[in-house]
Amino acid sequence: MPETSTLEVTPVVAIPPHLVGQIQSKLAYVDEAIAAAQVAESGDRITLTLRSAGNAAEIEAKVQRVVQEMAQGSIAPRVEILEDHLARPVSYDADPLTELLARREVYEESTGIFTFGPLMSRLIEYFEGRFLQLAAHFEAQPYRFPTLMSAKFLDRVDYFKAFPHSLTFATHLREDLDIINEFAEKAKYEGHGLNSPAEFFSQIQALLSPAVCYHLYFSLADHPLPNGQLIATAVGNCFRYESNNLTSLERLWNFTMREVIFVGSKDFVLEKREQSRLFMQKIFEELGLAYQVETANDPFFVGEFRKQAAFQNAFQLKYEIRARLPFKDSTLAIGSYNYHQDFFGRHLDITLPDGKPIHTGCTAFGLERVAYAFLAQHGFDPARWPAAVREALP
Ligand code: AMP
Ligand code: ZN
Repeated sequence: MPETSTLEVTPVVAIPPHLVGQIQSKLAYVDEAIAAAQVAESGDRITLTLRSAGNAAEIEAKVQRVVQEMAQGSIAPRVEILEDHLARPVSYDADPLTELLARREVYEESTGIFTFGPLMSRLIEYFEGRFLQLAAHFEAQPYRFPTLMSAKFLDRVDYFKAFPHSLTFATHLREDLDIINEFAEKAKYEGHGLNSPAEFFSQIQALLSPAVCYHLYFSLADHPLPNGQLIATAVGNCFRYESNNLTSLERLWNFTMREVIFVGSKDFVLEKREQSRLFMQKIFEELGLAYQVETANDPFFVGEFRKQAAFQNAFQLKYEIRARLPFKDSTLAIGSYNYHQDFFGRHLDITLPDGKPIHTGCTAFGLERVAYAFLAQHGFDPARWPAAVREALP
């Protein structure tokens, strides 16, 4: 084991309760020497675990910059709870990961990269079937999207500014005989990665998709939308590099999302988003899920965080479906109801028949998290599962 040391930092600005989690998760990206970061609930102390190579003074200065940019002048968001079913009865109170690992139902191929066995796969397939009922309710058109996403389009929608920390880049060896031969001869996995020099790799044209619905908007770019509205559905692999926060099944580098996507006028998108929520309320009841739906914000990076999070809150752009995790007395987002206003319409020049930019929204479910939260609440004995799930699984 490499040696570690502890660095205690007293934040220049006290961290308000609503930012404790948000700042803590950003500290993973402050310096490669940080192995773990903990912000005290009280918000007046940060404890960093450093790999021995770290320069403490420099790291502390960077941590203080993050605190200052995210916390100074921040106003607590007004959290609105749209549904509260947290008291729904559950029958399990352990972390299902322990049992899943013991049964070899999940295998961690590498940090944040998991393989799932028959139980998790059947559960996910079943839950996806229920989400497809939502899609069918809206007569959503099916789409298939690639795992790679165009860097050019991500740039057009300012993704690099908003979420740079969680990007995953796709590259390949440069088209050069000497480079390819040298790579073939010498490439080895050493220490924490491949030993090949960065200059062997091409410029980035593509990334691994961080979300599903963006592909639809890109495909509609630079044209008026025929008929002025569209409802689509797709499932896809998504990638969000979560650094030291990748510590359990809760946060994966590679996960899958099923989305139902709404494109049209403001009223159309807002109405469909609300109908989605009401439709899913009945389904979640059948699944016996203890959860709540509340206003939320996306995990914008440090410089953009304060402004963007406040904006999302003010206009109620994001509602999260947060499932209870009884074993740790907390909740986990298993899905979200999103409204993007005319953001994609403006950036991608997609117009309504009257020439104005289109509005978009989506309902998104994180499939691994839905199965994980279900097992966290109802355990591994099908006899104790809600009837709908018990009867549907072999
Ligand atoms: P979002 O677009 O951020 O609202 O994501 C939609 C859903 O995807 C979330 O509610 C989660 O269920 C899931 N999700 C997002 N990030 C991750 C992750 N790193 N690991 C697993 N699931 C995730
Ligand atoms: Zn989406």
